[in-house]
Amino acid sequence: MTSIAFIGLGVMGGPMAANLVAAGYDVVAYDRSPARIESFVARGGRAGGAVADAATGVEVVITMLPDGPDVESVTLGEGGIFERAQPGTLHIDMSTISPESALKLAGQAESRALKFLDAAVSGGERSAIEGSLSIMVGGAEEDLQRVRGIFDTLGSTVVHVGPHGAGQIVKAANQLVVAGVIELVAEAMVFLEAHGLDTELAMKVLAAGLAGNEVLARKGASMRARNFAPGFRVALHHKDLGILTNAARQAGVAMPLGVLVAQLMGALVANGDGSLDHTALLRLVEQLSGRGDH
Ligand code: NAD
Repeated sequence: MTSIAFIGLGVMGGPMAANLVAAGYDVVAYDRSPARIESFVARGGRAGGAVADAATGVEVVITMLPDGPDVESVTLGEGGIFERAQPGTLHIDMSTISPESALKLAGQAESRALKFLDAAVSGGERSAIEGSLSIMVGGAEEDLQRVRGIFDTLGSTVVHVGPHGAGQIVKAANQLVVAGVIELVAEAMVFLEAHGLDTELAMKVLAAGLAGNEVLARKGASMRARNFAPGFRVALHHKDLGILTNAARQAGVAMPLGVLVAQLMGALVANGDGSLDHTALLRLVEQLSGRGDH
């Protein structure tokens, strides 16, 4: 089996790395949080003492880190992945970063005779645990096919969407739709509550018609209960909507609703709610409506 180094054992990376171990891969992992390494070791993985240790002598390095600057420092910085990786090693970045950052990493990899794929994911923590992520891959198709088994362990939908950077463009579109749908579900919920209706019953009938969607199905109950434990943090979705609005501007595309929901997500961060789940957009709708205890 392919030997893998896995860097970043957070909400997503933790279960993804554990699934690779369970599938029989030899996985050595590193995270700057020692507690996260310990819990990975408890699930059968090996601990890397530092990024460079983990990346030495493996065939594939996977990164699952918060943002582009994190991936760039862990990859290109002193003691980083590219310093130790042997020629031919494939670096798969599964974080959500800007397309420019993905292109920079691809270029640097090429100049060192290394391979690179940007492979952003969707589906959230539950899909990471179940191994049922949607994975959007940018780069050479042959590199994807070489490690098809790894992708099939992590996800149930794996699509080669284009050249380097394309995975991140598709992910930005994904984040536009998810943020917009959360905002609409939140507005519908506050609206129904304001009319004194039983939202559980109302949402049940909504879910069965054209208004049905995955946010309602997966997050409806926790939104009704005002449980905003992450999940996907507001701060990360704010980062993604910044990537989206920049990319829309570069392409000369009007995105009126996307920009509006990006502003709402930014307002949540400004109000100190960056560490809550992104469904906390509901709190903002309540605040704007003079409802809730804010
Ligand atoms: P997270 O904050 O839970 O995990 C990030 C991990 O990276 C943490 O454990 C942190 O300690 C570690 N880390 C940060 N900098 C490091 C460094 N320099 N060296 C070593 N370790 C470092 O984030 P997450 O929710 O797992 O998200 C990871 C990426 O996946 C982000 O780009 C996010 O946008 C994307 N994503 C998240 C979700 C989700 O639902 N959470 C879904 C799809 C995509």
